[in-house]
Amino acid sequence: MKTAEIKRRFVAHFEANGHTVVPSVPLPADDPNLLFVNAGMVQFVPYFVGQATPPFRRAVSVQKCLRTPDIDEVGKTSRHGTFFQMNGNFSFGDYFKEGAIDLAWKLVTNPVKKGGFGLEPERIWVTVYLDDDESIELWKKTGVPAERIVRRGKKDNFWHMGIPGPAGPCSEIYYDRGPEYGPDGGPEVDEDRYLEFWNLVFMQYEIADVKSKEDFRIVRDLPAKNIDTGMGLERIAALLQGVDNMYEIDEVRPILAKAAELTGKTYGAKSGHVAAESHPDDVRLRVIADHVRTSLMIIGDGVTPSNEGRGYVLRRILRRAVRAMRLLGWQSGPALPHLLPVARDCMAPSYPELAEDFDRISSYAYAEEEAFLSTLRAGTTILDTAIAETKKARRKRISGEKAFQLHDTYGFPIDLTLEIAAEAGLGVDQEGFRKLMAEQRRRAKADAAARKSGHADLSAYRAVLDAGGPVEFTGYTETARESKIRSLIGPLGTVPAAGEGEEIELVLDATPFYAEGGGQQPDTGIITAGDGQVEVHDVQQVLPGLIVHRGRVLRGEIRAGQVGFGEIDVNRRRAISRAHTATHLVHQTMRNFLGEAATQAGSLNAPGRLRFDFNTPSAVPQSVLVDVEQKVNEVLAEDLEVRDFITSLAEARKIGAIALFGEKYGDRVRVVEVGDYARELCGGTHVHRSGQLGLVKILHEASIGSGIRRIEGLVGLDAVSYAAKEHILVSRLAELYRVKPEEVGDRVEQMIQQLREAEKELERLRAQLVLANAGALADAAQDVNGVAVVAVEAPEGASSNDVRTLAQEIRGRLGTRPAVVAVASRSGTKAALVVAVNPPAKSRGLRAVDLVKGALAGRGGGSEDLAQGGGVPADQAPALLATVEKLVAAV
Ligand code: ATP
Ligand code: MG
Repeated sequence: MKTAEIKRRFVAHFEANGHTVVPSVPLPADDPNLLFVNAGMVQFVPYFVGQATPPFRRAVSVQKCLRTPDIDEVGKTSRHGTFFQMNGNFSFGDYFKEGAIDLAWKLVTNPVKKGGFGLEPERIWVTVYLDDDESIELWKKTGVPAERIVRRGKKDNFWHMGIPGPAGPCSEIYYDRGPEYGPDGGPEVDEDRYLEFWNLVFMQYEIADVKSKEDFRIVRDLPAKNIDTGMGLERIAALLQGVDNMYEIDEVRPILAKAAELTGKTYGAKSGHVAAESHPDDVRLRVIADHVRTSLMIIGDGVTPSNEGRGYVLRRILRRAVRAMRLLGWQSGPALPHLLPVARDCMAPSYPELAEDFDRISSYAYAEEEAFLSTLRAGTTILDTAIAETKKARRKRISGEKAFQLHDTYGFPIDLTLEIAAEAGLGVDQEGFRKLMAEQRRRAKADAAARKSGHADLSAYRAVLDAGGPVEFTGYTETARESKIRSLIGPLGTVPAAGEGEEIELVLDATPFYAEGGGQQPDTGIITAGDGQVEVHDVQQVLPGLIVHRGRVLRGEIRAGQVGFGEIDVNRRRAISRAHTATHLVHQTMRNFLGEAATQAGSLNAPGRLRFDFNTPSAVPQSVLVDVEQKVNEVLAEDLEVRDFITSLAEARKIGAIALFGEKYGDRVRVVEVGDYARELCGGTHVHRSGQLGLVKILHEASIGSGIRRIEGLVGLDAVSYAAKEHILVSRLAELYRVKPEEVGDRVEQMIQQLREAEKELERLRAQLVLANAGALADAAQDVNGVAVVAVEAPEGASSNDVRTLAQEIRGRLGTRPAVVAVASRSGTKAALVVAVNPPAKSRGLRAVDLVKGALAGRGGGSEDLAQGGGVPADQAPALLATVEKLVAAV
């Protein structure tokens, strides 16, 4: 049965039993503690923990999942992928154990003809939690005999999230694949022969004091009990397709086959059914198939390779795939262009967006492979040297410093260092490496913290926030307001008052000041209270909800508890808002021109100025930039209304608001829209109508790192005065060249061309001049022991090229007698020497390189025929020549 059909049957079965079909959420999790969604239940967590009311009581989904902790198992077991799909059915306070077991059993054992999976009941085993007698009874009722029901402990059969909240026992369903896969005895004995394919979680308790997987306290029974199940789609597919493992199912096998074809391996030739005993080549082919598919899925969901977070996971997976290909002997350049399209063809039937988006996806993958191949070239040499040195010193481990240097300077990932070292039979001082990494991280963190929050220690802020709650931001609608001064914070913590000249941090109950965030620069302004006045130069949100104003007391004294009046610098704010709205327009327009791949990767909205970073693997042509600028300015001219409103994340997505990957959004989000042109989730401040921007001028575009490019631009008056300055410049150039302004470019190009030609001509003439003398110099050769020797200084201004040519020219004119030509030259404060020797002189034992080295005390280099060196003081030029003569005489 095809994987797609399994999916369809699963969904149909539960839909027919009253479940709402819920689509998969994207792989990047909407949760700061989780990089990637790793189970079907992740999107339902708010329902399970009671943060939100589910709109349905039963749901079914096929969720895209990623489990990085399983990466080392890939290919070595038959059942672990990094990417996989989880079929799941969920009940929110509706049916419980009985319903879940019954529904699962029917689907699994119903004959294929009747829409089921047709597994043989006699081969099914189940596990239950130690004391969960209720489940045991239910399984027995369905017909599973006691000897195939296994009780297991907390480690395997008790589920919780590692935090206080819902928890409960689980029950797993296994299929016995037969003795050729391993020993008898059930899942306790062999988890690869007895393959777990479905886990039913019964959420029935609330737990607290969670110290570890197995150490927690059950507080009470949940009032509404829930069901959460997960069936590994790839695992059930392997069972139903009668293949040995999940890498051989229809959605994966073609990738594996392609890798085998490319590397000339016959998959499976050296392995049996038992995954753990597979030949390393087969494991590698599985790793490639898995990782290529996973990369496709991750990039498809908007992640791009980078050095941290999700981007790093992707980078690591992509690189492991490339490396596995090389370990299999592939040396013919990039491999992904052969493999990724196969993965696309496997997955596109279920995820058509992969085909539509393949240009973008593949460009990231291919660029990453190129980058990795060059990293490999650089790093491998260094690592090889380190390996050789380590072995020579009879040590067993490569030093932590070396590993760190490879990582830090060459971008050589530690896991790769480990792998390559292991292949050479060496270890790596990982502890040393980790220490250095931690040190570096600590430094970076301390820097960032000191810059952003002033205090490395956040406890003072925490206390202020706990005591007074979040600060209200009123700056969307007003630029000044009265508010109580809640706290004053000095370098050592809260203080009651601050006097003239002091730097102080100030927390108001409500503030019109915008704290730096979302790329938007903070407001500045004045806060007055009584006779005191503070000049605010920075505003930061140091903790979620806590806005802190930083400033200096200009005069008087300011006290906590007073009522103050905060007033922002309106002109600055307007200029910033213009820049921010402009950024949205540029972002949207870039996407219109370059496709959705051109996603914002960072931005800066400063007064009158914007900076916009975005993902794209290659440079943006100048003509596109011109078009983008033109289009943005057309939108300004339309004078569209800028509106903002609060809505649900789901609704925002539905109306096409751009959300940034990796950004954490709450349930309620703020959408900013410019007419119907641009719509984006945003917490920043904006103008009221696009016409207020006046003019947007894009200055330039450049690369700032792998796959990330930056556009800078000016907005409003700043753009106008920039354009005015440029206009003056062009007018002046036009005047100087006596052409029309629009002809300046052609004229300059023409002049550059002329200049180049003139330079070439000059060079030619100078060379002629130098060479003109060659004949006379050859005629004046001295005879030294039967060798014709010319030792002369080159004319002033001769380039090193000229000098070499001169020496060769003279040598040529000396005919067939043994000849040595030495030409010294001076350039600035240094002298240089060129020596040319002809074959008859060589057969007398005279070698150009020896003569140069002899004259320059070992420095210089070249061949037996022609050599050169230099770097000595200019006044030694004659001495160099004299030495050459002496050396010739001595032979
Ligand atoms: P295992 O012990 O085999 O690693 P698990 O206990 O980690 O499995 P669960 O967390 O219960 O698995 O996940 C539910 C289901 O998802 C499993 O029954 C299995 O079918 C599937 N599954 C889990 N991890 C993977 C993986 N890495 N690759 C493919 N399928 C998986
Ligand atoms: Mg697992």
